[in-house]
Amino acid sequence: MQTINASGAEWIHLDVMDGMFVPNITFGPKFINDLRSHSSLVFDAHLMVDQPERYVALFAENGCDYITVHGEASVHLHRTLQMIKAAGCKAGVSLVPSTPVSSIEPVLDMVDLVLVMTVNPGFGGQSLIPSTLKKIEQLHAIRKEQGYKYLISVDGGVNLKTVHLVSQRHTDIAVCGSAFFSAADRAEFVKSMKAAAKG
Ligand code: ZN
Repeated sequence: MQTINASGAEWIHLDVMDGMFVPNITFGPKFINDLRSHSSLVFDAHLMVDQPERYVALFAENGCDYITVHGEASVHLHRTLQMIKAAGCKAGVSLVPSTPVSSIEPVLDMVDLVLVMTVNPGFGGQSLIPSTLKKIEQLHAIRKEQGYKYLISVDGGVNLKTVHLVSQRHTDIAVCGSAFFSAADRAEFVKSMKAAAKG
């Protein structure tokens, strides 16, 4: 945890998987609570979970700053996002690569973050799917046109070679898993990523 805190990264992105929405299972709110006392970075929970509305309050109570749910996993998405805000957290919505931006347009005025999945969720170490980049452009255009304030975050296959593809399309946050954890020097890695993002 110390090397993460000292790396220069500003957020910790927590991939919660339930074995239903995605095939893999990771961890839950208790684990996040255990981490909370070891870091003051922004905790960004990405719930790859079916019917995430069942767990929103629990994740809010256990130290998450942002809670991001999948549009595909929540039928009453508007209500779920309201629940996140009512619980005192920032609300995010995410899309898998095959879901179009138009499906979440009705809630874009109320979200603090949109998480574009650039790989199919469930496992680390995958390559970025180029067709997903267009969604970043669409989200930035809508944000500009409508005056919305959401951050655009990108998750999947982001590394030193691909970060410029997302940064030049106005991504605010690049989530790194494998690339960060396999780096010999994490602080050096974050520095190089920030430099590569600036082009
Ligand atoms: Zn994620």
